Formats: sequence, C-alpha cells, structure tokens
Amino acid sequence: MDLKIGWLYPTLMSTYGDRGNVICLQRRCQWRGIGVEIVPLDREADVSQVATVDVIVGGGAQDRQQEIVMRDLQGAKAAAMREQLAGGTPGAFTCGSPQLLGHYYEPALGQRIDGLGLLDLTTRHPGIAAPRCIGNVAFEIVAEPLATELRQLWNEPPIAIGFENHGGRTYLGKVAPLGKVLAGYGNNGEDGWEGAFYSNAIATYAHGPLLPKNPFIADWLIQTALQRKYQQPITLTKLDDSLAQQARKAMLQRLNLASLPGNA
Ligand code: GLN
Repeated sequence: MDLKIGWLYPTLMSTYGDRGNVICLQRRCQWRGIGVEIVPLDREADVSQVATVDVIVGGGAQDRQQEIVMRDLQGAKAAAMREQLAGGTPGAFTCGSPQLLGHYYEPALGQRIDGLGLLDLTTRHPGIAAPRCIGNVAFEIVAEPLATELRQLWNEPPIAIGFENHGGRTYLGKVAPLGKVLAGYGNNGEDGWEGAFYSNAIATYAHGPLLPKNPFIADWLIQTALQRKYQQPITLTKLDDSLAQQARKAMLQRLNLASLPGNA
C-alpha cells in the first residue's frame, strides 16, 4: 500500500514548524511499511497533481506569503482542490491554510483576499494595533463523525493540543466547528470554537506542529486516506507513542487540564 501526500506550497506556507505535519505522516506510514510519495502542490504543480493526491496538508503563512498563495490557487487548480476536499480526501490545514479555504481573509493592511470559498467561514485581522492570539491551545474535538472515529483510534477523549499565533479572527458560518476551546483563543477568542471540519478536512489554528503532538489525528488521516484509496477497512498497527503521550501530559498539566478524563 502507498499514499501520495500533497503538501500545499511548502516554501511559502510552513510557519512554526508546520512541515513537521508532513514528516509525521511520512514516518508513521513508513514505520508500518506503507509507501509514501510527497507531492509539493505549489506554483509549479499542475492540476493533475492536485487531483491525484490521497491526503492534503497545508500549513500557516505570514500575510504576504499567504497573499501570493491565494492569488495562485485559482482557476483549474482551485477547482481540483475543491473537488478533492468535497469528495472526501482527508486533509489537515493549519492557520493560514483554513483562511485560504474560507471565503476571504482581510489582512491588517491591504485588501481583502478571496479564498476558495469551500469552508463557510471568513477571517478578518482587526488591525496592526490589535494583539495577536498567541500561546498554547487545547481543545476537545467535537465535530462528528470525526470525534467518534478518533475515540475509537485512541481510546481517550480527543483532546488536541497545539500552539497558536494568528492575527486573523475567524468566524464560522454553516461549517461545523472542529472543537471546543479548553485553553487559548481558538478561532477568535470570543465564541469558544476552534477550527472547522468539512467533509474529511480538518482546519485548525493549532501549529505545534499539530500531528506529532496529536498522533491520533495523524493516524486518522492515514487510515481514512487508505480506506478511501483501497476501498476496504484498514486497521493500523499500533506504534509506540509513549514520548508523545508524556509531552501531551506535560502540556495539559501546564494548562491546568491534567484532570481531564484520560489524562490524569
Ligand atoms: N497570516 C495569518 C494571521 O495572522 C495566518 C498566520 C499563520 O498562519 N501563522 O492570521
């Protein structure tokens, strides 16, 4: 078995170590004997590459780089991305990437940049004088059926941890929120929601990077991608995640969340 991992704009969108998400997926596949090809979905990529990847990963970006990406991802390439995600290709999108998948991003300076309009959400930066949303973040994933499937993989409540650093505030329309904020700001610091979940696409503000800190999400992406590709139920071999577990425990203690079920 093998998977093609599409990586959105690797050189323009990989703030705060987001490339770690791609490395995490790659290693967790290789440790199980699953072949991996990493396909950069950047300015040089053509539509057929966007249309044939099995899982898509996108990281964050500074406003300037984000604008370049949002201007490039138009036309046939945008249509292929829409088709992939609407059709159930799993993906993990952090920070700048969800802003790109939404209707638009209004930066602190300059003009509104249109997104793909795939996720019913909008993002506005309230201006350079406004404080950024920075710090460790923890949230309980509540989007269904994702939350139930993660529980089956992990045998624990799907609490995700990460690190956020964004100026933009995201407001959800009809798209489902990914999780409920337990610590940190989440989408906008006001409504208590973190991220969004659409089809099989996970959108979040959590860098960290997200997947090494939350290996159950990485395994969900791998399992979902393999099941779609091979049209059969897949059970992944267990890996030794004791180091990730210790790191998670330390962070939950630091955030005064150590008493949550499954983390005591
Ligand atoms: N430029 C966006 C913001 O500040 C995204 C930042 C990021 O991806 N880290 O909201």
